[in-house]
Amino acid sequence: MTTEIYYKFEGNNTSGSHKLNSAIAQAYYAKQQGLKGVTTETGAGQWGTALSMACSYFGLDCKVFMVKISYEQKPFRREVMRTYGASVTPSPSMETNVGRKILAEHPGTTGSLGCAISEAVEVATSTPGYRYVLGSVLNQVLLHQSVIGLETKAALDKYGVVPDIIIGCAGGGSNLGGLIAPFMGEKLRGERDYRIIAVEPASCPSFTRGKYAYDFCDTGMVCPLAKMYTLGSGFIPAPNHAGGLRYHGMSSILSQLYDDGLMEARSVRQTDVFEAAEMFARVEGILPAPESSHAIRAAIDEALKCKETGEAKTIVFGLTGTGYFDMVAYEKFHEGQMENYIPTDAEIQATLDKLPRVDA
Ligand SMILES: *Cc1c(COP(=O)(O)O)cnc(C)c1O
Repeated sequence: MTTEIYYKFEGNNTSGSHKLNSAIAQAYYAKQQGLKGVTTETGAGQWGTALSMACSYFGLDCKVFMVKISYEQKPFRREVMRTYGASVTPSPSMETNVGRKILAEHPGTTGSLGCAISEAVEVATSTPGYRYVLGSVLNQVLLHQSVIGLETKAALDKYGVVPDIIIGCAGGGSNLGGLIAPFMGEKLRGERDYRIIAVEPASCPSFTRGKYAYDFCDTGMVCPLAKMYTLGSGFIPAPNHAGGLRYHGMSSILSQLYDDGLMEARSVRQTDVFEAAEMFARVEGILPAPESSHAIRAAIDEALKCKETGEAKTIVFGLTGTGYFDMVAYEKFHEGQMENYIPTDAEIQATLDKLPRVDA
């Protein structure tokens, strides 16, 4: 017996990530409902790209607020969205009340998913025939993404492979929630036991350093509260290259599972993530997304532990997407210019102190 690593690849579509699984479902229901269009936010651009594709299939208008740092760092991603007919605005923008307010309070901000959500919600609620759709965090998104876990389980069952450890990167928690869905079901029913590990960036450590509390899902505090692991809706993460993981909160379902001790979480540093990404590219040929490479890092680390202890384990991880639009990040890594920004306890406490007060 040797340690084996398997991965489920979700990057074989033009949008380059697992996000298309939910985008198609959400565009389909929007069309059924007779809507004209949808608004959304995008961080690194994968969700916006996926939704643009899905909207073009169904003849829906698509307005995307893109986190400013990504809008500037990823012009190609932006043009893919426009190719599929979406309009793309850098966030925070002067187009919305909430955008103007955020810019007045934080001039020169590079934006965050939370800010972009607030802007997209404002446009949807003030434009007839439009709704806001979200590409992660919410329960219906995890439900759409459970196709990842179902396919993974079917493939493993076919070859008689039973994983010991299941690993996924966690931004809002949708790919991980989807990947673990059937396995967590078995675990909850006491049929089988698995170690499940969520991997997040050290620069945005919602699980590992956040608080389990009711919080706003967006920086503008216009969305309903959710009980989740959060760094506070005012937390604006450092401009890490894994844009899809720069979110202050976490899926409520995953938060509950983590709080119940049914899964683990760890954070990893950006340079260690890119080292793993490069190793993976050389061994497997696929150029991984920086987000996905968080899971690769943890899978390699777990395999190395097995090597030390002499135990053989079967490891499965979610390879959520490709990194072709992240070459600026790879360039920084190769040039030795990549930074590992880790927030201080005081910084995190400052935004946690502003959590909304909720009666128990
Ligand atoms: C958006 C994204 C993620 C993180 O989002 P989750 O909702 O946590 O899955 C991870 N990987 C890629 C490639 C992404 O685009």
